[in-house]
Amino acid sequence: MSIETIGDIPFDVPLEDVINRMRLGRKAPAMRSMVKELYREVRGLAKPKALFKASFTGGRTERGVEIDGVEFTSGLLATKLENTERVFPYVVTAGRELDAIGTDKNDVMRVFLIDALKELVLENALRYFERLLADRLALGTMSHMNPGSLNDWPISQQKVLFGLFGDVEKLIGVRLTPSYLMDPIKSVSGIYFPTEIRFESCMLCSRERCPKRRATYDPEKAKEYKKANE
Ligand code: SF4
Repeated sequence: MSIETIGDIPFDVPLEDVINRMRLGRKAPAMRSMVKELYREVRGLAKPKALFKASFTGGRTERGVEIDGVEFTSGLLATKLENTERVFPYVVTAGRELDAIGTDKNDVMRVFLIDALKELVLENALRYFERLLADRLALGTMSHMNPGSLNDWPISQQKVLFGLFGDVEKLIGVRLTPSYLMDPIKSVSGIYFPTEIRFESCMLCSRERCPKRRATYDPEKAKEYKKANE
């Protein structure tokens, strides 16, 4: 399967849901009206996008696994893909278009709200993409890993992941910085793969109050993982 890009992801979260999500309550009328104004701007500008491909695993070692003939160095990824042939590398972004929203870095509240709205656009796009992947490919339980989320699969592996797609910037406007972060920052990348038991890197990560957490921290699983890597 060739690379597929999805350029028409809608941002259709109702305003009331956005307000509830930000827990503004009734005591913050000024903030509510700022959210309303920014929400309208975001809806007019947002063009979230995604790209993915169906890839195939190859040779595995303790250190890593080949995907489409390219080696990914992560013992954990290799273990998780032990019985999996088909995997789905992807990048999803809230889109560069949102950078056009005017901001003043001294206006802390406005900066905060713009950031929160961009995060919502990204979350919504990711959910849309997951549904599309599940419907289109009739997949059952899916697991998911991102480079940089655990020491075992360092952030520098973004370069290898992006290499599977060619020119990601040309395709959906996302580029890697010299430190392998994605620009725009409201973007996520990783690999989905079918499994019998769901796995998320977040299960092994104890970071508190992470807005991007996708699964509850599992101290037992984390202990097993730590022991296996000693
Ligand atoms: S909890 Fe947050 S930092 Fe930890 S793996 Fe999940 S998304 Fe990444």
